[in-house]
Amino acid sequence: MIGDPHATRPSGRRWRSGRPAVRRADAVLALAFLAFLALFAAGCASDGPSSERTGPQATTTTSSTSTTTSSTTTSTSTTTSTTTTTWPREPVPERPAVAPVPVLSRIATDDPVVFLTIDDGAVRDPRVADLLATARIPATLFVNESYYLADPDYFARVASGGGSINSHTRTHRRLTTLTEAQQRSEICGMRDVLARHLLVPGHLFRSPYGVQNATTQRVAATCGINAILSWRATINNGQIQYQQGDTLRPGDIVLSHFRDDLYEGLVAFLFAAGRAGLTVAPIEDYLPLPPSP
Ligand SMILES: [Zn+2]
Repeated sequence: MIGDPHATRPSGRRWRSGRPAVRRADAVLALAFLAFLALFAAGCASDGPSSERTGPQATTTTSSTSTTTSSTTTSTSTTTSTTTTTWPREPVPERPAVAPVPVLSRIATDDPVVFLTIDDGAVRDPRVADLLATARIPATLFVNESYYLADPDYFARVASGGGSINSHTRTHRRLTTLTEAQQRSEICGMRDVLARHLLVPGHLFRSPYGVQNATTQRVAATCGINAILSWRATINNGQIQYQQGDTLRPGDIVLSHFRDDLYEGLVAFLFAAGRAGLTVAPIEDYLPLPPSP
């Protein structure tokens, strides 16, 4: 069905096939957790933006730009604020490389929302898929080819709470060491892989190690990528590590990985979001529309 980025093609396997059963202890924890989520989600529902489920609406948009530098990136980070709920749910045509793709580490918004991203795909814990799917928590995934192809249905299940599946390059090489042609093969090649399994491959991109250059931003624009996501907080070893302060803030993009500790990390993240009065929103609802082709 057009507009559902998680639907598999008719010839593909359905995610339900072969899905491992949830262990009893995990199910109990998940149920307790869902009760918690329901409490803070209800508190935020009246304040949050209209979700994608309400369809496109009239929009007003403001934006601000800030520039950051670090020892590992040469690109410009841009924060963008928008109240739009419109985001293309259909394939975006490739556009000429006239405008570099922006790098976003957070979204400037007053809405009480944070954005969850999960990278790579090495460890595919069924508890993670069950938690995010059952609680309808949107996650933006950035996957590599070998991990993704090992079980596309697993990632569809993880993203079924309202997220999307996006390119993280094919082989996770450091992009700043590659030629333009090699970067194109890595960035756009992975999006092509996703396009063979998804009706709508994700429009976002994350560079391995968070490292990119101007070539990355230019190349990404040639294959339908509309934003490169960086982050403001990281989930590691069951804890949240903040780049600034000691709490999640509205608009923060949070980085995590498909590792053994992801489930425990997500529990910590969701409690931290609840403590901060924030709910997890689909980042696509807050991103700027791509320019007209
Ligand atoms: Zn990675």
